Amino acid sequence: MNLKKNRAIYFILFFMLLFMYIFAFGYTMTAKASTGNETHSGTQGGFIYSYGYFILGLLLFAIITIVVLFNNIRIRRKNTESLKDEERRLILQQKRYRMILDNSDELFYEISLSGEPCIATEKIKEKFGWDIPRIVDALSVRTLSEILHVHPDDEEQFFSSTEGLISNKEVKDLQIRLGKTDGSYIWCRVMYLPVIDEDNNMVSIVGKIEDVDSTVRENQNLKMKTRMDSLTGLLNKKTFEDEVREYIDENTAISAAFIFVDMDYFKNVNDLLGHIMGDQVIKDTAVKLQVIFANCDLVARFGGDEYCVFVKDIPLDTLADKLNFAIDKLSDVYTNNGIRVKLTASIGAAYCSSPGIGYDSLLEKADRAVYQAKENGRNQYVIGYL
Ligand code: GH3
Ligand code: MG
Repeated sequence: MNLKKNRAIYFILFFMLLFMYIFAFGYTMTAKASTGNETHSGTQGGFIYSYGYFILGLLLFAIITIVVLFNNIRIRRKNTESLKDEERRLILQQKRYRMILDNSDELFYEISLSGEPCIATEKIKEKFGWDIPRIVDALSVRTLSEILHVHPDDEEQFFSSTEGLISNKEVKDLQIRLGKTDGSYIWCRVMYLPVIDEDNNMVSIVGKIEDVDSTVRENQNLKMKTRMDSLTGLLNKKTFEDEVREYIDENTAISAAFIFVDMDYFKNVNDLLGHIMGDQVIKDTAVKLQVIFANCDLVARFGGDEYCVFVKDIPLDTLADKLNFAIDKLSDVYTNNGIRVKLTASIGAAYCSSPGIGYDSLLEKADRAVYQAKENGRNQYVIGYL
């Protein structure tokens, strides 16, 4: 029996008694009126008879009150004991929870939204140098991002997914970089799920962090390798083509240049200075091209001693200056074992100042222009217009 039931029984008994009392009193008065005689009045017996009901009622009322009061005290004591039991059970459960968390290799945390202390495995501090705060007052996407030290570049992804967690109470699983106190970042798989109470309110967020840094970086390297020329580290022919096509598709108003570079008599380098020296010249040329052209331009090795550069936006006179500069810088003398080889480059450029020109047309025009430069005597550039 709980306190509410006890109180209800008390009120029922009290009102039953009151009704009985009123009824009995009314009955006596009616009986008196009908006989018209003051039975027992004026005597001690009459007094007891008249007030008998009243005294009996008071007695019953006192007995009921005492019984209900005792019952009340008993219930309260029982409730306090069961509350203490529940508290002990919860503390034990939390201890067990902590033990499991601390002995696990996984990084777990629970951020309470109801003012309860947050829980986090020791390993979070060991790995990142920071800890989940004990109390979180008001949880927002930004607070959660700050707590987890999300990389600024991954914030957008984190914000949109966390918004879903907080507003729609969805389970989330994402791959983002989390910062360490030494300033470095590690790729992590961050999973979090909302804990909902019986009234459908989110009371906490349980999260798990998994270090996937080595896997992600390996994959990135692998991906990078398939995009790059292995000797020079420039974009390879396929990646260059994909990126130029994508740029042309996305940009309608362009004044771009497609530049084809072919070293002159490169076979001489291989033949006279050796293949290793030949490889070194190919790598040096790649570095020179990256220095000559801007970071936003696309520089690729097309194969052998051929390179291509796509300059996204350049006025014609600037292009001519750039190509002059390139001819000058690519002209070099290489020596090995006292043998000297002078190396120069021929450049063909396709200049496009109107939209709608496709990749194949650009390549063909630049190819023809470089052929023309070779025909004209090498160590020079030719520009073709589209
Ligand atoms: P041209 O002026 O007509 O271009 O004459 P060239 O000797 O440069 O002739 P071409 O461009 O046709 O030949 C390029 C040579 O580059 C052919 C090949 O022996 C050499 N080659 C291609 N790839 C590599 C490489 O990875 N390393 C080295 N060392 N040589 C390469
Ligand atoms: Mg060549």
